[in-house]
This record gives sequence, structure tokens and C-alpha cells, in this order.
Amino acid sequence: MKILVVNAGSSSLKYQLISMTEEVVLAKGLCDRIGLPGSLIKHKTFDDRAVTKEIEMKDHKDAIASLIRVLTHEQWGVIKTLDEIKAVGHRVVHGGEKFFKSVVIDEEVMKTLEECVELAPLHNPPNITGIKACKHNMPNVPQIAVFDTAFHQTMPKKAFIYALPYEYYKKYKLRKYGFHGTSHKYVSERAAHLLGRPTDKLKIVTCHLGNGSSIAAVDCGKTVDTSMGFTPLDGLAMGTRCGTIDPAVVTYIMNKEGLTTEQMDAIMNKESGVLAISGVSSDFRDLDTAVEQGNERAKLALEVFAYQVKKFIGSYACAMGGLDAIVFTAGIGENNGVMRTMVCEGLEFLGVSIDETKNNTRGIEIDVSKDDAKVRVLVIPTNEELAIAKETKKLVCEC
Ligand code: AMP
Repeated sequence: MKILVVNAGSSSLKYQLISMTEEVVLAKGLCDRIGLPGSLIKHKTFDDRAVTKEIEMKDHKDAIASLIRVLTHEQWGVIKTLDEIKAVGHRVVHGGEKFFKSVVIDEEVMKTLEECVELAPLHNPPNITGIKACKHNMPNVPQIAVFDTAFHQTMPKKAFIYALPYEYYKKYKLRKYGFHGTSHKYVSERAAHLLGRPTDKLKIVTCHLGNGSSIAAVDCGKTVDTSMGFTPLDGLAMGTRCGTIDPAVVTYIMNKEGLTTEQMDAIMNKESGVLAISGVSSDFRDLDTAVEQGNERAKLALEVFAYQVKKFIGSYACAMGGLDAIVFTAGIGENNGVMRTMVCEGLEFLGVSIDETKNNTRGIEIDVSKDDAKVRVLVIPTNEELAIAKETKKLVCEC
């Protein structure tokens, strides 16, 4: 069975065609600058045939038509006809409270997706456009929505309610939702598999540390708390996002600097985080280089990040009443052994103890804890596309 995974942004659309029999990526690519001058498609196959081509793509429908052409192309293609694609799995950022699991998309689901737009005005509209474009170009292929928020819908109310007037929750659905759910689910299930224990017997803290970062407490296979909130701005200080700050700071800076809400929003999302602390970069590789050159603010940025991750791990161990494993994933979690060490230092009292030889690795699935450590520390590369494809397959096979 071959499944197309689509991740549609406002002017770009990433895709992967995955063969589920062997769980291998047959082809992947990106339609970029959709609706803009110089739109192009970048495409690469499993056997290293690659092409980058400027093609006019006025909208997402054109983008889907282009990717279908390239997937079935004599020279660049990996399938003969469209009939080989059995389903399309769409990444949808926000499912609100309505979607606690992936769904087959029908008219009713489309209506509900539209209702979720106000919760994620930047992300959900392009996701919906991507779905409509696929329906237009592949009317007979089942379309499945897989939500970033769905895995966290198991959070108890005490974890997701904000101490604001309750009517805002009622009126605006203002509450913690959490994001990166597909990744947290995938790595927590992989962790159980690697540990050879059932998910319903494990208390795991999953640390998705990338340009955007979030942490989840996964108790018996279900999220009980997570660090991102109503939006992906909450929680950890990230590449360019400020994460949790005293809420009073927002109005204070706006008054002092005479900023509009849009300007303040841009500062918190794009000009903060480790970029702001270091004054160097949002990329942790650049920060490592700067630290080697003696840059004190870059060092401080890394310390702030590690300290915050450590505090979440501690608080989530308390929330779950125990801890069996910590999982590191995403760009930083998978590749940055020094950051993993900084996070785990001082957590020996919980039973965490890293083996530095094992930890000196990147990008592979590995248990980096000492043999006798009570809490296992695992590095598990995330694979959100495969997770979406698996969800899609499950739903299509149930149909
Ligand atoms: P992501 O958003 O998951 O792509 O993660 C981006 C972050 O991961 C950046 O801060 C990078 O510095 C870091 N990262 C990605 N790849 C590597 C690598 N090979 N070595 C070290 N850090 C990496």
C-alpha cells in the first residue's frame, strides 16, 4: 500500500510517498513559492534521482497537480498511475477539542476544520487548502487528517485549564492544547518497543527539541501534560520563541516601547528565544561554535535552555508520580549529545545517569543510559511523516 503524506503551508507544500509494506520513502519533495513568481518543485526519489524545476503554481491545486505529474513521470516518477496511491494523510496543526484522533475527511469534518481556523489562523487555513487541492486532483482517494494536537487531548482538565475567567474557555475554547503530538506519540511508542515493555506500564517524558521545542508527560501511553499551550509559543525558550514568561511582561513592554499587538507578537515569536539571549543565532550549531570561541551570551542561552528542559522533566516526573524513561528527539534532541548531558546533569536523584560513550552519537535510536540506571534515557529520531502514514493506513484499513 502506498500513501501520500502532505504537509501544506501557506506558500509551500511538502510531500512524501511512502510504501507501507516496507515502510520506505519512495519519493519526497517540496513545492515552494506557491502563488509567487518563481514557484518551483524539488523532488527526490529513493534511488537518488533528483530534480528541481521551476513550474508555475498559482495555487495549491496547481502544486498537487505538479507533484502528481512528477510522481508519475517517466524519468522522475516512482509510480505508473495515480491509482497506486491508496490514501493521502494530511498534517493538520490544530484539531481543537473536536478531534482527539485522526479522522477520515468528509463534508462534516471539513466544516469542523473550518471552525478550528480561529484557533490556528496561520496554520490551519493552508492545511485546509492542501486538503481541498488533493480532493480536487484525487477525488476518489480517501483523505485523512492527522492532528498535531490530537495526542494531547487526553490531558486532564486540571492540566489544561488556565486560571483566567472561565467564560473565556467556554466562549473561545481558550485552554492548553499542546503541539508536536504526532512526534510525541511516535517516539513514546518507539520507546516502549525499544524497552520491550507495554506503553500502558510506562511513565515517559518525551523531549521534542528542535527549532520549535516541546515536552510531554506520557503516562500509560497517554499525554497527561505538555509544555506548549494555547499556541506553540508557550513552554520552553526556543530558537526564536520566548516560551513561558511572566504574562505582565507583555503589556509592560508594549507600553514602554509603544508596540502594537502585531509587533509584540512578532517579537515573542521571531525575535526571542536563544536567538535573543545569545545575540548570535537561533541554530544550536551556531551557538556551539560561538561558545567554543568564548561567547558568554551563547553559553548563557544554552544554559537557559538546558535548565528549562530539566525543570520540565522534574515537574512531569512529579505529575506522573514516577519516571521510567526520558526520550530525546528532533534536531537538537537527536544530534546534540552535549545538550542531552547538560539536561540530565543533576537528575541522578531521579535515577538518571548517562553513559557518555554511548551518548556520543547522533541521529540513531539508542539507549544512552548507564547499564544500571533506573531511568532509561533514549535517543529516538522522530519521523512524523511515517507516523502520519501509519495513522492513515490504520484508518483506511478500518473503512
Ligand atoms: P528541527 O527543528 O527539528 O529541524 O531542529 C533544528 C535544530 O536542531 C537547530 O537548532 C539545529 O542546530 C539542530 N540540529 C539539526 N541537525 C543537527 C546536527 N546534525 N547536529 C547538531 N545540531 C543539529
